[in-house]
Amino acid sequence: MRGLPLNLLTLIVAIALVGVMGFFLIRPSALHDDETPLAMPINGQLDHRFHFLSAWLTAQIPTSLRFDPPLGSDHGGLVYNAQKFWDFNSKRGGHHTGDDLNGIGGMNTDLGDPVYCAADGLVVFAGEPSAGWGKLLVIAHRTKDGKTLHSMYAHLDRINVAIGALVPRGEVIGNVGTANGYYPAHLHFEIRSSDGVDIGAGYSMMPLNRLDPAATVSSLRNAGVDELSQSPLVNMLDYCPTPKK
Ligand SMILES: [Zn+2]
Repeated sequence: MRGLPLNLLTLIVAIALVGVMGFFLIRPSALHDDETPLAMPINGQLDHRFHFLSAWLTAQIPTSLRFDPPLGSDHGGLVYNAQKFWDFNSKRGGHHTGDDLNGIGGMNTDLGDPVYCAADGLVVFAGEPSAGWGKLLVIAHRTKDGKTLHSMYAHLDRINVAIGALVPRGEVIGNVGTANGYYPAHLHFEIRSSDGVDIGAGYSMMPLNRLDPAATVSSLRNAGVDELSQSPLVNMLDYCPTPKK
């Protein structure tokens, strides 16, 4: 007889617990109503994992006929790679996700050196995602076989281009910096196979969408003579075909 109220009590407590859990799991604000526009993130930080380029932006990505190294001479001369792609860094606990390009003078002798756009492209990120990254640019390119690649330039001292700008290969898009004094001046350069902007971290255990920047640039350096220095007008005519009469 004494067991019945105890069972009843257990049942009541269980129902209350399920109710509380249910409230937190499926409370109305956790459900997306089709009629409600998506709210801006409360802390103002965009989660770049979900920031895929819009159809309009994707359509604007120019075909990048040739890639060049982003620092030094046309052939990447006068530059050394202090930390290569996928080198393991035990201090940082992961593999390096890009190349660390430095002027041959070492330390801060390359501070302010021009950083060149690796290939014709569309600026899809220009800003400072964190103090450690410093000023950073992401530029989207379309390869001749239709793939979307992103080139990323980090720790910049200055950024010269705005988001949404179409920039040609070889344009000075920024200057080598120190990421607010976090490192001796160098350019952290990445190439990714990507349709969205996800800055991520500079060290990782998984390569995810990161490609070897030096190998990718050298594999995309070949272009026919008639394909080089394509004029902006040619690109524009590609977008705006002559209307048929
Ligand atoms: Zn780096």
